[in-house]
Amino acid sequence: EDELSPYVAPAERDLETSLRPADLHEFVGQQRVREQLELVLHGAMRRGTAPDHVLLSGPPGLGKTSLAMIIAKELNAAIRITSGPALERAGDLAAMLSNLVEGDVLFIDEIHRMARPAEEMLYLAMEDFRVDVVVGKGPGATSIPLDIAPFTLVGATTRSGALTGPLRDRFGFTGHMEFYSADELDLIVKRSAKILGVDIAVDAAIEIAGRSRGTPRIANRLLRRVRDFAEVRADGRVTEDIAKQALEVYDVDQLGLDRLDRAVLNALVKTFNGGPVGVSTLAVAVGEEPTTVEEVCEPYLVRAGMLARTPRGRVATPAAWYHLGLEPPAGDQL
Ligand code: ATP
Repeated sequence: EDELSPYVAPAERDLETSLRPADLHEFVGQQRVREQLELVLHGAMRRGTAPDHVLLSGPPGLGKTSLAMIIAKELNAAIRITSGPALERAGDLAAMLSNLVEGDVLFIDEIHRMARPAEEMLYLAMEDFRVDVVVGKGPGATSIPLDIAPFTLVGATTRSGALTGPLRDRFGFTGHMEFYSADELDLIVKRSAKILGVDIAVDAAIEIAGRSRGTPRIANRLLRRVRDFAEVRADGRVTEDIAKQALEVYDVDQLGLDRLDRAVLNALVKTFNGGPVGVSTLAVAVGEEPTTVEEVCEPYLVRAGMLARTPRGRVATPAAWYHLGLEPPAGDQL
């Protein structure tokens, strides 16, 4: 399973939905963003106005979609969900916007991947709650301004740096989502196990949490895979030993790095002798899109202290060499 893949089997998707935290109190971790959001939302509610538009930024699977749903719930509002790539033409966005009801939350996932004309239409909508609908083609085309209901936009992005300045400026608040600590992930694994009815030992939950790359979505996925293993190869109970064996089968290493993470490290260390190397070259070496390497792999490798982004390119740290069982070269650049 690729976490960027749009297709998730229906049964798994239902499980994902059932595991979603329903309100701010069920939402584990992200203390800072939660506190900031609470102020933004409650401030607006006290004044009886729609809150400022909210941007949530951070690596995939940290709970941006969950948080967007929680925002709508806190506001007692309905949520409409779409994504940047789905808004290919401005007309697609115009249709969504004109269907909004006052106070609605509009959630746009991967907002940095929206097409330019749609993005320009969004500026006006965010600022003046208005869209200009173009009728006709060629020299006879006219643009008709149309009022839309005041709404709150929640945008999610894995790359806030890829957002154009004008778009970024129109968000009143940006929440920076961070990787979760092992303790927070442990809580999430235990909570999910309870919802799924999985009998899990304390040490097993810790084991899964520690190998989840700081990411709740991965924690939940590993839990489901470990459960499969426990049911097929044992009596269904997830012990520490069962968890370890299962994680081995699924190619998740001690630090939680998966195949792609290790491929990137291997290329960086072995093919490019530790770097520096540009991200596109690195991506070609592992047969992946540069955006996948940049948005999915790198944030965690950086946080794990194994990869550094320098002006000259990506560099492997000594920890990366050691993790692959190699000695870093003497006189290392870092
Ligand atoms: P994407 O960037 O792809 O939109 P995301 O960051 O929006 O991903 P979600 O889909 O919200 O991630 O979360 C993935 C799963 O992780 C959810 O189904 C939920 O079960 C779990 N999850 C995320 N955050 C939390 C949290 N803080 N507490 C408990 N579970 C969480």
